[in-house]
Amino acid sequence: MYDYHMHTSFSRDASMELEEAIQRAIEVGLKEIVFTDHAELNVWSPEDLIIDDIFDEETYISTLQAVREKYKDQIQIKIGIEMGLQVEEKERIHQLIQRHPFDFVIGSSHTIDRVDLYYGKLFADRRKEETYERYFTEILRIVKEVDDFDVYGHLDLVRRYALSKYKEIELNSKDYEIIEEILKVLIGKGKGIEVNTSGYRYGLNTVNPSPEVLKMYKQLGGEVITVGSDAHKKQDVGCYILETYQLLKEIGFKYITTFDQRKPHFVRI
Ligand SMILES: [Zn+2]
Ligand SMILES: [Zn+2]
Repeated sequence: MYDYHMHTSFSRDASMELEEAIQRAIEVGLKEIVFTDHAELNVWSPEDLIIDDIFDEETYISTLQAVREKYKDQIQIKIGIEMGLQVEEKERIHQLIQRHPFDFVIGSSHTIDRVDLYYGKLFADRRKEETYERYFTEILRIVKEVDDFDVYGHLDLVRRYALSKYKEIELNSKDYEIIEEILKVLIGKGKGIEVNTSGYRYGLNTVNPSPEVLKMYKQLGGEVITVGSDAHKKQDVGCYILETYQLLKEIGFKYITTFDQRKPHFVRI
């Protein structure tokens, strides 16, 4: 088992300590883990400021290098980042990703118009259809414009927040049309997608993106898939990874992907 998405106290929204996460990963039998703490550039904060929400870069890298060495006989540890992608920040994102020896970069869309989905602004005064169209259209623009990532994170994340805003949260045919275009761009660029198991914790009772999107990715010829728990707490490390491998097998995938210094490797499931 490989957990390719985990947050520690280097992320503002996570309380899990690094070594606590490693101990837990060893305990549940993970072979390899990647820490993917958050970086968001020029985003709105609750103090009503526009800030860079990012860990101390030098400390992050050197701490991860040290634990990678310390635990190398028990578990493989990789250095990753979950980079909030925004077209307007693409130059700074490029510089940030290039200046460190990352093994793996998840590109995610947490913010639209610089505000995190968490704060609800995207949903205010919009019907579900309008919100989703705005969200997926923005992702399409991002994947066309930005290159500094390996897999696109939780492609239909908007559903998680929609759960508390709308009566129903399913994707409609218009959404699938845009998603198909997004997937084609990703495949054309040699980028993958992430399957994020946290949907089970957040009440979606499935992964992000949903199995229908995974089937579409498969039909379009997509092959690069990583699976991650998005754990922010110790008890969530490694959760639903095996179930997700099973789901992927049922859809027809034969491999999941791991990364080493940004290079993909395929592991049979
Ligand atoms: Zn995320
Ligand atoms: Zn995350």
